[in-house]
Amino acid sequence: MPVRCVYDSEREQLMEKVTIKIDGQDFSVPKNTTILEAALGNNIYIPHLCYHPDLKPVGNCRICLVELDNGRIVTSCRTIVREGMALKTDSPEVDKVRRPVVEMLIANHHMDCRSCGKKGNCALQKIRAKSKIDKKRLERLRVPKEKLPVDTSNPFFEKNPNKCVLCGICIRTCKDIQKVSAINFAGRGHTARVSPFKDTLIVQSRCESCGECVVRCPVGALVVKNFKRPKDEFRSVCPYCSVGCGIYLGTRDNVLVNIRGNSKNPVNKGQLCVKGRFGWSFVNSTERLTSPLIKQNGKFIKATWDEALELIVSKFKNYKREEFALLASAKSTNEDSYIAQKFARVVTGSNNIDSSARLCHASSINAIYETTRRMAIASSMDEIEQSACIIVAGTNITRTHPVAGIRIKKAVENGAKLILISPNETDLCSFAKVWLRPYPATDAALLMGMCGVIVDEGLFDESFIKERCDNFEDFKASIDNFTLGRVEKITGIERDTIVEAAKLYATMKPASILWSTGITQHPDGTDIVHGFVNLSILTGKIVQPSSGLSPLWRQNNALGACDMGCLPDFYPGYQSVTSPEVQKKFESSWGRRLNPEPGLTFTETIQATLNGKVKTLYIIGSDPASRITHQKVKEALKRAEFIVLQDIFLNETSKFAHVVLPAASFAEKDGTFTNTERRVQRIHKAIEPVKSSKPDWHILCDIAKKSGFKGFDFTCTEEIMSEISSLTPLYKNVSYSALNKVTMQLTSPDEEKTQVRFKFTPLKYKTPSEKADIDFPLILISEMDIYSAGSLSRKVEGLNSLSAKGLVYLNQKDAMDFEIENDKMVKVISRYGEIEGKAKITDISPPGIVAMSLTEEDTHLLINSSQEQITEYSETKVCAVRIVPLYESPTKGVPS
Ligand code: SF4
Ligand code: SF4
Ligand code: SF4
Repeated sequence: MPVRCVYDSEREQLMEKVTIKIDGQDFSVPKNTTILEAALGNNIYIPHLCYHPDLKPVGNCRICLVELDNGRIVTSCRTIVREGMALKTDSPEVDKVRRPVVEMLIANHHMDCRSCGKKGNCALQKIRAKSKIDKKRLERLRVPKEKLPVDTSNPFFEKNPNKCVLCGICIRTCKDIQKVSAINFAGRGHTARVSPFKDTLIVQSRCESCGECVVRCPVGALVVKNFKRPKDEFRSVCPYCSVGCGIYLGTRDNVLVNIRGNSKNPVNKGQLCVKGRFGWSFVNSTERLTSPLIKQNGKFIKATWDEALELIVSKFKNYKREEFALLASAKSTNEDSYIAQKFARVVTGSNNIDSSARLCHASSINAIYETTRRMAIASSMDEIEQSACIIVAGTNITRTHPVAGIRIKKAVENGAKLILISPNETDLCSFAKVWLRPYPATDAALLMGMCGVIVDEGLFDESFIKERCDNFEDFKASIDNFTLGRVEKITGIERDTIVEAAKLYATMKPASILWSTGITQHPDGTDIVHGFVNLSILTGKIVQPSSGLSPLWRQNNALGACDMGCLPDFYPGYQSVTSPEVQKKFESSWGRRLNPEPGLTFTETIQATLNGKVKTLYIIGSDPASRITHQKVKEALKRAEFIVLQDIFLNETSKFAHVVLPAASFAEKDGTFTNTERRVQRIHKAIEPVKSSKPDWHILCDIAKKSGFKGFDFTCTEEIMSEISSLTPLYKNVSYSALNKVTMQLTSPDEEKTQVRFKFTPLKYKTPSEKADIDFPLILISEMDIYSAGSLSRKVEGLNSLSAKGLVYLNQKDAMDFEIENDKMVKVISRYGEIEGKAKITDISPPGIVAMSLTEEDTHLLINSSQEQITEYSETKVCAVRIVPLYESPTKGVPS
């Protein structure tokens, strides 16, 4: 499988150069660079304040002045170098203009540098030192100023207007880089300041707390709270979502103290969202598991590793292979996941191995594999940014996968047409060319309607279909069931809008499709993903560059867990367990007879545990008791005879466990993660594991060795990766020696692109499992809360405080109909349960739709918990509800 490597120096090598003279010295610098960049790139300091390398230069501060050989004074941040140019960075003429500006700035600045968080790293301090400003003169220039209040409302950073030099970097960062525009200048003259709209506190504004402005503020006006400067830094990858942003872990005395974005990482180019930048304190949490625990008389007792492992080994001996199942984590490293599936297959002889990836994207896994025989055909972030058309569905992407969301906004700014499929208004709506607002869970009908338009208008790729696709005639016949009139009725979207979206997608090249759990967690999620695949092969886009089908996995290494074979029917690299050749290959490497029967998916495992067929469970880094919306999961866990839970915190599932093993966090181990683009990236151990916790692979290998099995004598993760690459064609070029320098995006080989056959899937319309009626007249959509939806983010106090948990967003019309007042407590009642929340009257939800950021426990209470069968396709996204006020004398709704 070819590997695309990204070399940092690539861009530089391609640049043309010119020769210029700075302060009498010759330099060869890239053509089209500015004087300031050329000087800074050669370690020549020109004082500057409003310039930042990530932003377009504006030349506002008038400090970065230089004198050209013709005597002209120019701003160096806006003047492009040319061959033979000569300039002076300092001269009496420059000083004459620059000095008064610097003096006024410093005279008006809060000058308590000793107590400032920016001390030693402040642009103004540096300018002052360079300019040798006279202290007495400064005193004369100083005018008494009113002290403005410091805004400490954000949990992660504070804004001190008294230290602001009005350079505008934060405003431009928020607008041009983060694309939020949460702040701007307010007031004029000496009252000018940076402020959110209407001068609110930052926490009340649309600020997303990403901290991008904070890291670029040149002085102490925006600083991270309780900042500790790291002594050492280690390259790693964000542990939250599957975008896989590159980070540096900053440590001091074996404690993680800071995270910053890796500007050389091709995924995020230094950008991070609030979770990536500030959501790391869970690593240092006092709630971390620090020693093995064994349950005795219903209570956990601390144990030594020997005691815990001996108990596990002796218990596992009592079970036959079909009585065992392992649930791996979609957050563990590839090396952890590889060892987890090897452990299940070698030590227990069972293919009952699955991962929490299935709980989010089972439908993506099934539909893509069925129709393309591949597990992912995603585009890279750069490719997405180069698309001419992008469909985004089932995700509030700027919240769930924020850095990918910014890439889509950039693509739109570059001319791409965005087709957004979302019942609710999201941040991306204002960027969309077409916003399709289907009734919840009717997306499959919408996509078939779009396919119908493409066929009717003759916009399909006939030769591609003839040469490469099967089942077209059956598919075409099934389109007849989705006439525009019917689709209009089912989805509530006007036919002209459906036609516009279909034509746009069919005619724009390249065109990417991205979706997430808003699609896959519906009972007909597989049909909807089939709908995306149908669209993509109908137009022949599936084999074109920048036209990928990208499921946005919720957890950071969900794709890696699948790649590593944490699947009941595949060894690593999607090599089938039923293939005799594949089985032989793994048997000869692992030295053990292997089971040729596919195992159980995790949801099948739960059913089998309820039936008494599966008796013992090994659960790693996952919390099925709270993640799966089904009361029967808890019943199954209660019924299991022996459960081992391996995690960094106790969780809901640990209540049912018999042994709990303390795992190391991502900051405490080496390994690799594979992001949603199938980019493999190295993570480096930055601190020692807390107390006696250990990496997952290490614990599994210890148990395997104690049980007498060979092939688990790994001393480091590099050895594990060598075994992975030797047995897994998909990873055959992956090595630590390469990964230590670059990231590797694994792409499909050209021969595969030209040989794979694709299959159309005819679809039938299925009515949504949840319908509104007179008792439950509204449809509630459960949204993911970016701040505190997961097991890690819930341990971060600041993220919890930003959470929109408990807010019930409803339309003004519904509020009036049901006599709900804004900001008042209400009860949300479904057919299965009820929860309380605070009403927020808003336009983001259309009439008839209510939106809530639900925790897993709330989802569990409210949505479909009475289903008889536990399937991968249980509804976890929508349910019919009614809302009743929890206060007396309700009046009519008032918009917020
Ligand atoms: S933290 Fe992010 S969203 Fe908030 S003001 Fe700064 S750049 Fe804008
Ligand atoms: S807060 Fe910082 S970045 Fe923003 S204008 Fe003031 S000094 Fe510049
Ligand atoms: S976008 Fe995802 S990977 Fe990137 S910083 Fe945010 S949570 Fe982490």
